[in-house]
Amino acid sequence: MNVPFVDLRPQHRALGDELRAAFARILESASFILGSEVERFEEAFARYLGCRYVVSVSSGTAALHLALLGLGIGPGDEVVTTPHTFIATTEAITAVGARPVFADIDPVSYTLDPGRVEAAITRNTKAIVPVHLYGQPADMDPLLSTAKRHGIAVVEDACQAHGAEYRSRKVGTLGDAGCFSFFPSKNLGCCGEGGAVATNNAALAERVSMLRAHGSRRKYEHRFPGFNLRMEALQGAVLSAKLKHLDSWNELRRAIATRYKLRLAEAGVVLPTEMPYARHVYHLYVVQSPERDALRGHLAAWGIETGLHYPVPVHLQEAYRHLGYREEDFPVTESVTRHIVSLPMFSEMTHEAVDYVASAIEDFHRLRPIRAVRPHPTAVGQ
Ligand SMILES: *Cc1c(COP(=O)(O)O)cnc(C)c1O
Repeated sequence: MNVPFVDLRPQHRALGDELRAAFARILESASFILGSEVERFEEAFARYLGCRYVVSVSSGTAALHLALLGLGIGPGDEVVTTPHTFIATTEAITAVGARPVFADIDPVSYTLDPGRVEAAITRNTKAIVPVHLYGQPADMDPLLSTAKRHGIAVVEDACQAHGAEYRSRKVGTLGDAGCFSFFPSKNLGCCGEGGAVATNNAALAERVSMLRAHGSRRKYEHRFPGFNLRMEALQGAVLSAKLKHLDSWNELRRAIATRYKLRLAEAGVVLPTEMPYARHVYHLYVVQSPERDALRGHLAAWGIETGLHYPVPVHLQEAYRHLGYREEDFPVTESVTRHIVSLPMFSEMTHEAVDYVASAIEDFHRLRPIRAVRPHPTAVGQ
């Protein structure tokens, strides 16, 4: 059996007629950028999330960039975030000229540890960017109260968490702004690049919507220099068609996670934990193994594709060497980085495929004595 890490084709086969009709409609209209297809999606997504405004942009990276810019964050400012994320989170911070300041993660949720965020705040801190990583919400209540106490903004990176809930509220609507990516393999993906900023703040929505389109609301009237970070009509139409299925696709992901959990309970790997406050949407199903690289090799030999999210934490990336972070600065993140492996996960994955992956992992541990993962060394030099 071959198990791909992700396969988007079944989703597009199921929606093929609807997507082809949308493409034909857009070709005929010859209106390819923003316009009514995009506005229809923005309204539907705002309704789905339960927030007042959704402003579509050209990617998740653009959403983070323009949300920070729209909130007035810039040179001299610090933004506290997690080193355990995709680099786009911090690229948005550096793109506006601010400085990323990292705080370590909680070893169970893999999201920002609120106590460490509090400790990282200085006079220059202007925002916190929690990442709802793998589809698991960050612990928002303590982060929001820290932000409130210091009078700073919260910009949620919800690029992996469409439909995830924190205490029954959709993530992306809890802070000042929520940023989504519609990269094809995300829980809600388009057929190209796409992203959006969700907010309840009318002034921010207005600023982001102008920033994405050359600082203008009307053609050739530019209030400030902006960018070209607009969404294409085709992506708006694809997203409107797919949004109707997001909840059922997330339910399928949750059912796959439940089956993995049953099958892997005794298999010698650390499983994801859905936090008590969370409705996890399993963008990724990430386990930890003391012998991660050997396990990956074993799974590859069984025809199973796996991923690493992410192999090098952001604070140790060459791109951010100038920030001056070193190894052992964030021991929880660094330990997690060494042990994680992402197993195949997509809504159309069959339960037979899940069972096959579980059998391969059991087989790996039959061949080797199980060593425990020590996920969070507490002292340097231990
Ligand atoms: C995908 C992703 C982004 C960036 O989204 P793009 O649409 O690829 O620009 C940002 N943050 C996280 C956590 C992501 O997973």
